[in-house]
Amino acid sequence: MNETLPQHDIVVLGAGHTNAHIIRMWRMNPIPRTRLTCVSDHNIATYSGMLAGTLAGQYEPADMTIDLVRLCASCGVRLVHAKATGLDLDNRRLLVEDRHAVRFDLLSIGIGSRPAIPATCSNGLSIKPMQTFLPRLRRTIENCLARETDEKLRIAIVGGGAAGVEIVCCLQEFVRHHFATMKPPKFMLLDAHSELLAGMPRRTQELAARELAKRGIQIKSDTRVVAVEDDSKLVSENGESVPADITIWATSAQPAPLLSQLGLPLDERGFLATRDTLQCTGAENVFAVGDAGSVESEFYAKAGVYAVRQGPVLWTNLRRKLSGRQLEQWKPQKKFLSLVGTGDERAILTYHGLSLHNQWCWKIKDRIDSRFMAKYQQYEPPAMMGKSDDSPEELDTAMQCGGCGSKASAGVLRETLSSLAQSHREHVLMGLDSPDDIALIANSSSGATAVSTDFFSAFVDEPYLLGRIAAQNALSDLFAKSASPRAALSMAILPPGPEKQQSNLLDDLLAGAVREFEGADVSLVGGHSIVGPKLTIGFTILGDANPAEVAKKSSVAAGDRLVLTKPLGTGVLLAAHMQAACRAEWWGPLVESMLRSNQPAAEDSRQYGVSAATDVTGFGLAGHLREMIAPVDLASELSLSALPFLPGVVELLENGFSSTLAPSNRDSVCDVMKIPEALSAGPTSVLYDPQTSGGLLLAVSESKIDGLIRALDSEAWVIGRIIDSAQQRAEIRILP
Ligand SMILES: Cc1cc2nc3c(=O)[nH]c(=O)nc-3n(C[C@H](O)[C@H](O)[C@H](O)COP(=O)(O)OP(=O)(O)OC[C@H]3O[C@@H](n4cnc5c(N)ncnc54)[C@H](O)[C@@H]3O)c2cc1C
Repeated sequence: MNETLPQHDIVVLGAGHTNAHIIRMWRMNPIPRTRLTCVSDHNIATYSGMLAGTLAGQYEPADMTIDLVRLCASCGVRLVHAKATGLDLDNRRLLVEDRHAVRFDLLSIGIGSRPAIPATCSNGLSIKPMQTFLPRLRRTIENCLARETDEKLRIAIVGGGAAGVEIVCCLQEFVRHHFATMKPPKFMLLDAHSELLAGMPRRTQELAARELAKRGIQIKSDTRVVAVEDDSKLVSENGESVPADITIWATSAQPAPLLSQLGLPLDERGFLATRDTLQCTGAENVFAVGDAGSVESEFYAKAGVYAVRQGPVLWTNLRRKLSGRQLEQWKPQKKFLSLVGTGDERAILTYHGLSLHNQWCWKIKDRIDSRFMAKYQQYEPPAMMGKSDDSPEELDTAMQCGGCGSKASAGVLRETLSSLAQSHREHVLMGLDSPDDIALIANSSSGATAVSTDFFSAFVDEPYLLGRIAAQNALSDLFAKSASPRAALSMAILPPGPEKQQSNLLDDLLAGAVREFEGADVSLVGGHSIVGPKLTIGFTILGDANPAEVAKKSSVAAGDRLVLTKPLGTGVLLAAHMQAACRAEWWGPLVESMLRSNQPAAEDSRQYGVSAATDVTGFGLAGHLREMIAPVDLASELSLSALPFLPGVVELLENGFSSTLAPSNRDSVCDVMKIPEALSAGPTSVLYDPQTSGGLLLAVSESKIDGLIRALDSEAWVIGRIIDSAQQRAEIRILP
């Protein structure tokens, strides 16, 4: 399927209540010729309405979580997992940590707020970021318990609003559930106001106070905490000192520090000042939504109910702004239903003067929250698949995996290379006569020039990240042969589209690549770019090599142990990602693995004098192993239980996911594979999984193996051995 670059870029910063609506709408009705990018500091988003229920064990953590990797993949939205750090308004660029800036035509800032914590109270647990609150809480309690004192743990919650009341009630359940053997802690709720739930009807306040009293939770009103002394004493404005082992901050919303660094006008509390169209007063093409923005003409609290209602208005206004139409105005709703869960299948309801606390109220809360979340937890494959009118062949092409999964199969290459009529030339020390990861060309000085090329079609939609992975993938061949890369030439196919977009795309791709090349002391010295149907990027790498030090693939010896330096499964994970099935918790380790340079492992392997080395890429582990043993008529054993897998790989293989290249990889080695029937089909298919920027496969003699493994530290797995088998040449025998 042909790609075209968009005319416009919309960027949503933060995937909170308002911006998440835009992502969801994109699946149903994307704006033509426009790309939507979500920049988020976490690759999951959490729903505050369910946090307390999750603490109480009424929900699983997954119930309150939106998986942004899957949601964005499913909606056709580019996800940039990075923390925003600033704004270059003149050039319409959002500055992000550890990444190239993200360009936008329209930007919606929705980074929420954080609890107000006095500067003198740096310790304690903040409710935000909510994505990490539960593990932080658990760790903190465990650390306190490790102190082994007979005293009851004192847990203080600062902030007696709806969030604080919910948290303190549900925290009791959390402790009962997760720390059953611990003495019941002493809970306190501290608030600056004279009443709990300030601003709520008196009857609601009484219901809450009664519930807390029933549970033995001490309420300390008129207590504005201004400092923490000795890590264990909360000091109030009026000088009172309250001892606490754990302090949880659930105070009222204050602006994130970033807001004051954007160069945009702020309201008196420090939130971004906006018009009723949600546009920032200082920039027509920047919107501020949810807690991060404040409509100047209105006064309303920082609450999710407003952020949710802003979603449809923002959606309309983004479309209208792009087409030059008049924008819609947002008005905060006058009244809203408030529901505060108490962790015991009951909730306190407040609506139109009505205040109730019972199970029925919890059922309403549960239904509203669950329905809301269900809308954001639909991760069906991108609409293109299955819905297209394309012919089956076109669909096949559309769904072809990218990365090394888009490589031509080993069979195609073998056939072509063996029939090439080419004269032998003395200066080609390693070429197609003995195919390896690189070619070696003799040069006039003592050594040789090492050359290798690698490119693939795009498999992630973030060009900066793609450039980084493509660079590491290309460098890997030289590292595998102990060569020193020196220079790189790029090869890029850019989809048709506006010139500005093409230049932005190339800029991002090459900036990502140069970052990796800099780390390897390699200069990008040239390249070639053309316009074509599908984004493709790769590099030719030139370097220096000492032919005597090059560990050829085929210099394996019987008895050598086989070592792998990265876990397997990039192909199946990327294939799952194309179908919006790669979870956020799997995506992070996958990206980290693809970005990990093979250089340190290559240096260790040179130092320990490995017999043979290659990098595992498109042909999968079995295919690359075959290339090692076939030319020298040796066989090998691989132990399935010793193979390292990236997180999620086993589950995906067992559920039938695989890369499009896996079947031809399997066909290319099926004549040499010997797999006992008893071994499960699922995990064994990882042997054919094409790897993008995979690890090194090293063959090393028994005498050197311990030293090498020690040097490689935790990044190496002994997965099998080379065996001499006159009868079973090139066989790959799989052991349990
Ligand atoms: C415990 C608790 C319970 C609550 N219950 C309710 C309730 O029942 N009803 C109600 O109306 N309100 C409730 N609220 C308030 C409600 O959570 C907020 O008003 C609402 O979440 C605001 O939505 P938002 O979209 O502005 O931001 P958020 O939902 O906070 O989302 C902001 C997103 O931006 C991301 N982000 C932050 N900084 C950056 C950065 N620099 N770069 C990139 N990404 C960034 C964050 O990771 C986050 O995903 C509750 C709050 C708490 C703390």
